[in-house]
Amino acid sequence: MKNSGIYIHIPFCDHKCIYCDFYSITNYQNISAYLDSLKIEIDTYAALYKDTHVFDSIFFGGGTPSFMEPGYISEIINYIKKNFKCTGDAEITMETNPGTVDEEKIQAFLQAGINRISIGIQSFDEGDLKFLTRIHSAGLAKQTVHTVKQAGCNNISIDLIFNLPGQSKEKWRYNLETAFTLPIDHISAYSLILERGTILNKLVLDGKVQLEGEEHDAGLYEETIAFMAPKGFSQYEVSNFCKPGFECRHNNHYWHYDDYLSFGTSAHSFMNGKRWWNISSLNLYIESVKHKKHAVAGSEVPAESERLNEYTMLALRSNGIEITRLEKLFGTGWYKKNQAYIGSLAASQYIVIRDNCISLTPAGYAVCDEILVHLQ
Ligand code: SF4
Repeated sequence: MKNSGIYIHIPFCDHKCIYCDFYSITNYQNISAYLDSLKIEIDTYAALYKDTHVFDSIFFGGGTPSFMEPGYISEIINYIKKNFKCTGDAEITMETNPGTVDEEKIQAFLQAGINRISIGIQSFDEGDLKFLTRIHSAGLAKQTVHTVKQAGCNNISIDLIFNLPGQSKEKWRYNLETAFTLPIDHISAYSLILERGTILNKLVLDGKVQLEGEEHDAGLYEETIAFMAPKGFSQYEVSNFCKPGFECRHNNHYWHYDDYLSFGTSAHSFMNGKRWWNISSLNLYIESVKHKKHAVAGSEVPAESERLNEYTMLALRSNGIEITRLEKLFGTGWYKKNQAYIGSLAASQYIVIRDNCISLTPAGYAVCDEILVHLQ
């Protein structure tokens, strides 16, 4: 039995943020039809994987899952548990946006089975929030963390974005300092990424918004890494930091190259070496599930060389490349081919090799992409 994760995409949002390229819509007419389709999709894949996989994480992402009624989320959790083997201690995360929940609603989500809440704060600066077109204020963001804690959640993560236009080192540091005044256990800190097709991309192309350069970005990232360790948060992936024992189990499945099943619009799955992805459009997704019992838009079985590259990339960005596991999956030869380069990285203190595992040092995380280019 393989330990794996389940992802559920909830595509409904209050509005579209300018930087967002996730599939989300602001029309709620099909909420109930969507739930029915998710159940059919779950039935389809349960028939294939219920006897081969054990699921120890469920992740509700979006979109804005916290926008849903707790009964809706509860019904999905119960349906998954009824149809798949799930561990008793499964981590069940829900992405939550400030402005969509109060204490009573959070309590109902916890009762439904949610035991980890990831809050999309992005910034504690009013100007940044306005720029990002978020619906919340900095005050509401802080209040939401306290509300989630008071409601009884003991595993709280927040998302922050750095390298926003005009964001000085001091302004970013203020965000980090504010985060540590709150009862949080985990921080995901991402650099602003300009995605094609977003409103932000158009604003940049039209010269209406100017983004900060790569050097500034690298400076803020180094500031982030240096800030976390003295606060007791260790880095376990390029963008993720937490108290001991609060690593996100679900995201670790992605980074450790484990299997995962995903349901809903635009959801991507990876099972037994095969990858597939669902139709994005909500209406087409519902139609497809109605007629075919699934909504697969495309699939591939990556070639071994591609899988090796993915594995080394994901492992190095997270808990390190376990040489024994790599050789078990891809055969011997990789280490020998890269031995000289790995030796030079160790001498420059970008990596450490311990217990047959190659992992990045804080200085190494800062140049991770460059290192990956040189690994063969
Ligand atoms: S709330 Fe999240 S998912 Fe929805 S539009 Fe904004 S960034 Fe995208």
